Amino acid sequence: MNFEVISPKTTPELLNAIYDNQTENFRIGAGFTDLINQFKTQETEGLILINLTQLKDDNFKLIIENKTNFQIGALTTASEIIDNKSIKENFPVLYQAASKLASTQIRNVATVGGNICNVSPSGDMTAALIALKATCHIIDCDGNERKELLSSFIRGLKKTSLTKKEIIKNITIPKNAGQNLKSGFEKVGSRKSMEISIVSLAYHLQLTNDGIITHAGVACGAVAPTIPFTTSACEFLIEKNINTISENDKEEFAIKVLEYANPISDIRASDWYRKEVLFNVSKTIFGK
Ligand SMILES: Cc1cc2nc3c(=O)[nH]c(=O)nc-3n(C[C@H](O)[C@H](O)[C@H](O)COP(=O)(O)OP(=O)(O)OC[C@H]3O[C@@H](n4cnc5c(N)ncnc54)[C@H](O)[C@@H]3O)c2cc1C
Repeated sequence: MNFEVISPKTTPELLNAIYDNQTENFRIGAGFTDLINQFKTQETEGLILINLTQLKDDNFKLIIENKTNFQIGALTTASEIIDNKSIKENFPVLYQAASKLASTQIRNVATVGGNICNVSPSGDMTAALIALKATCHIIDCDGNERKELLSSFIRGLKKTSLTKKEIIKNITIPKNAGQNLKSGFEKVGSRKSMEISIVSLAYHLQLTNDGIITHAGVACGAVAPTIPFTTSACEFLIEKNINTISENDKEEFAIKVLEYANPISDIRASDWYRKEVLFNVSKTIFGK
């Protein structure tokens, strides 16, 4: 590997580095857990690497509770997500997704922004954030900012709406309307840890005190080229009572989730197996 590394410490330095290298062959690196693998197979001769690990800007690094949302810096690691009490309390789906990602060593450096921008169909934190209807906040090297719903930011396999001038600064998640939640992350793999999902299901349901579902977000990983937000399955749940939901309704919900699955067969599982697992996992999220 033969590349030049630039390590900006401030946001203006970062934006200048992107500006100066727009026409060059450059990559941005945060935790490098995905990039380092790519470098094993890609040509790195003459590459310019903009290393974000030295950046000191709270907007990129912190988890901040605002009036209407939680802001999570793109450089927040999976371990920092796990250690944050507000995330655990308000968004169990994200807490669980971060907890089930890889190993402690990887979680200590793997960032939320990297998980999103790697655009893997099995990105665990990405699936949770899609279920949570998260929004990406993006800045470009001229200082312009824009935001986009994560589910539309991801445009296809390994494709996002980011241009070469842009970088994700942070992600926001809307606050819950109440405190009653049914929220979690189911990950099926062939091992307990260090396993990329065969299927994952991220769900975040908000309920009244009586158990009526008022808001629903469900996304499934590793079953399609991108992680789908299962709109019609979510709509089906609204106004159902989670305490009395029937077996038929659970089945109908699972069928609706399955409509979003278009899996491939690969070394980890066949397309048939992934669909069977997704169907069965979807039925179980309501509890007994
Ligand atoms: C052994 C191993 C096990 C793994 N297990 C899992 C797992 O169980 N679940 C899972 O989801 N993932 C897993 N991964 C993948 C990886 O750890 C995660 O995707 C991680 O979150 C990537 O974050 P990073 O900071 O390391 O990204 P990097 O490798 O630094 O970057 C990844 C991509 O994102 C881009 N990028 C990073 N930050 C930004 C930003 N702020 N704005 C724009 N672009 C950006 C980079 O340019 C690059 O294209 C595993 C990886 C390894 C090596």
